[in-house]
Parts: sequence; C-alpha cells; structure tokens
Amino acid sequence: MIGNPVTHSRSPDIHTAFAQATAQAMVYERLEAPLDGFAASVEAFRNAGARGANVTLPFKEEAFALSQVLSARARAAGAVNTLRFEDDAIHGDNTDGVGLVRDLEANLGVRLAGARVLLLGAGGAARGAVTPLLEAGIDSLLIVNRTAARATGLAQGLARTQGGGPEALAGRAFDVVINATSAGMSDAMPEVPAAAFAPGALGYDMVYGRATPFLAFARAAGARASDGAGMLVEQAAEAFFLWRGVRPDTAAVLASLRGG
Ligand code: NDP
Repeated sequence: MIGNPVTHSRSPDIHTAFAQATAQAMVYERLEAPLDGFAASVEAFRNAGARGANVTLPFKEEAFALSQVLSARARAAGAVNTLRFEDDAIHGDNTDGVGLVRDLEANLGVRLAGARVLLLGAGGAARGAVTPLLEAGIDSLLIVNRTAARATGLAQGLARTQGGGPEALAGRAFDVVINATSAGMSDAMPEVPAAAFAPGALGYDMVYGRATPFLAFARAAGARASDGAGMLVEQAAEAFFLWRGVRPDTAAVLASLRGG
C-alpha cells in the first residue's frame, strides 16, 4: 500500500487475512512514498521484484498517469488504486467503484437496478463510483457537491445523471444516499435534507470506522445506515483477484474489521 501517510491503513491486515484464507504466498505491507517521489518509489519497488501495489491518497491521479495499460474503469474514474506489474508494463486499475457496488448489493442487500441514487461529493471517490453505479442499472443519479461546478462537470454527458449544488435536492427523494465526501473525517456532514431519504432508503457513508454525523442523520431520518468498511474490504478483494487470480471470501474479514 503506497500512500502518504499510510500508517493507519487497514489494507495490510485485510490482504494478509485473504492470503491466509486462500493459501497464497504473499506479503503485503505499507510503503510511505515522499510527496514528491511517488514514481521513484514505484520504480524501486518494482525493481525489487514486487508484483503489484495499492495506491491511496494523495497519489491516485499520479498512479493513473504512471500506468502504461489502463482498465476501462480506471479510465472512467481518472484515478488508479491498483497497480499490477506484468509483462514489463505497469497496469493500472480502479477497484473502488466495484467495491462499493458489491458492498451495496451483496452485503447490504440493496437492489440497485431501478434505484434512485444520490451521490454527495465530487472528489476522487465519487468519480470512481459513477460508472459502476450506472452499469448496475440504477434509474437515475443525482450528484450534489458543495462546489456545484465539480458535480455538474462530473455529470456532464452521462445518461440518467444530473449534477448540481445542494439546492438541486429540493423536493426529491432517493432510495440510496451515498456520502462520498470526506466531511465525516472532521465530524462534519454535507448539506442534505431529511426528506431526501425515501421510505426504506439506505444512507451509506464511504468513511469507515467512525460514527459520522451523516450516519446519525440518516438513522434519524428513518433510513438504514452503513459505513464504508464493506467497500474497503470489497475493493481489496477485487485487487487481490487481479493480482492472484483467486477471489477471496470477504465475510469473515469484514466481520473481524468491524469487530476490532
Ligand atoms: P477528495 O478530497 O477527492 O474529495 C472530497 C469531497 O468531499 C469533495 O467533494 C469536497 O467538496 C467534499 N467535502 C469535504 N469536506 C466537506 C464538508 N465539510 N462539507 C461538504 N462537502 C465536503 O476525497 P476522496 O473523494 O478521495 O475521498 C472522500 C472520502 O471517501 C474520504 O474520506 C475517504 O476516506 C473515503 N473513501 C473510502 C473508501 C472506502 O473503501 N471505504 C475508498 C475511497 C475513499 P468540494 O469539492 O466542495 O471541496
């Protein structure tokens, strides 16, 4: 896991558990790259015989630029969180969006086909989620961001998708409300009215491992609520599959992540 900082990443625990469960001989550790030395760190790691890496803040765009072969979903996201070193080339992929969709559908039992979805935020995490959500067959997607122009920019040219500022929420209700902002990290939440949660809705905060104001607000509005721990584990499982060709079972790892 290459990032800066990376000290708090849970990914080494997750991948070590996957490797044990699938009997794969694999070592996965944290690697802090200097802020101005991402490419050099990747090169040194690759030369040392590494097979691949995950990439986190603030290097996902740099990883995109460094990749010589890009998957369609990485291209759609404009960011790379998974590198694979193969055939003398750096392959870049993005597993965040598929991780989100898998958590919603497989772990939380949400039926995305036909769902009205609200995506709060227009940063890297939101950008990675858009195409996988549309491909899951949702009815409509509204992207709302504090800086409205970023949301309208993200929605531009996409079918079934609109973007805007918080005023775009007036009079609308959604089956799934996804908080893809980083507001929860500072105990804040994006602007959203209680009426945005349709009866039976799910409120999903991508931030994980903390009780965010958004989760409390969603519950108070009568919705189900989930943090992003499942997305973290599912995106890791997809990366593991890309490297090892084996799909690990995620349930036990997710339970232990939630338990401790
Ligand atoms: P970015 O920095 O790229 O984007 C941050 C977004 O949050 C922007 O849309 C920004 O709005 C908005 N924002 C920040 N603070 C506030 C606030 N107080 N009120 C309203 N909006 C706010 O971050 P990322 O998109 O990369 O990540 C977002 C979050 O998602 C992170 O906290 C990260 O932990 C989480 N994440 C979780 C993953 C998982 O596996 N569970 C995977 C990836 C990310 P503006 O444009 O106006 O500045």
